[in-house]
Amino acid sequence: MAKWGMVIDLDKCTGCQACTTACAMENNTLPGESWQDVLYYNEGEYPSAQMKWLPRPCMQCEDPSCVHVCPTRATYKDPDAGGIVFVDWNKCIGCKYCMIACPYGVRFYADEQPLIEPDMRDVYPGENGQMWSPPYQNPEQDWRRGIGIQPKGVVSKCTFCYHKVSKAPEGVPDLDEDDPELVEYVPACVRTCPPKARYFGDLDNPESNVNRIIGDKHGVRLLDHTGNRPQVYYLGAGAGVPAFSPRNS
Ligand code: SF4
Ligand code: SF4
Repeated sequence: MAKWGMVIDLDKCTGCQACTTACAMENNTLPGESWQDVLYYNEGEYPSAQMKWLPRPCMQCEDPSCVHVCPTRATYKDPDAGGIVFVDWNKCIGCKYCMIACPYGVRFYADEQPLIEPDMRDVYPGENGQMWSPPYQNPEQDWRRGIGIQPKGVVSKCTFCYHKVSKAPEGVPDLDEDDPELVEYVPACVRTCPPKARYFGDLDNPESNVNRIIGDKHGVRLLDHTGNRPQVYYLGAGAGVPAFSPRNS
């Protein structure tokens, strides 16, 4: 079984947020819930300071603090599913402990009045306990993995588009959006990125392109000092930015 990993090249990212929109469409997320945020930060000092974009999916951590704190074991890491971390919406009680424990701020709960008006929950009211009924509905529903239209009272997060990657042929080292045989299995954010700043593949396969570029281009992980050991790596992150640390395991 693959251990799925994502590589994001910060030198290529233009901050266009096509990934953010593609993710929202693919995963039926509520407006205001952004599983794929694009943040920014400054690198260097005046007069050579540079603003850089920082796409931030769930890191699918190898030692995820969200999993450690969940009192109902609704949040779990599945080694048989590429090491992806899921929320079982049947078990989640909405206590939000995981949201506090996650150092990356990539979990969402929608009970507050949204910042974006109108409230889309009023415009497209949910049925059967669902949070809303979006006009386009991805037919994939898998509540045990937090996939589908979010029900009321639960936490949601990025799943690396598990409903797509899980259908990929066994043993492929990478899911490359340029490969016509594989493009339909590629996560929406990776497939959509116009400057091709994202790569997706098997971190356990020494032949994979993701492993090669992490090694060749000195990939680093975000907030690695927390010990969470993300399965997301960044390229082009300046060594002077303390939030990024070299690969250490
Ligand atoms: S980034 Fe946060 S939500 Fe995602 S696996 Fe790590 S601790 Fe859990
Ligand atoms: S909000 Fe849900 S997933 Fe998060 S810790 Fe509580 S029960 Fe677990």
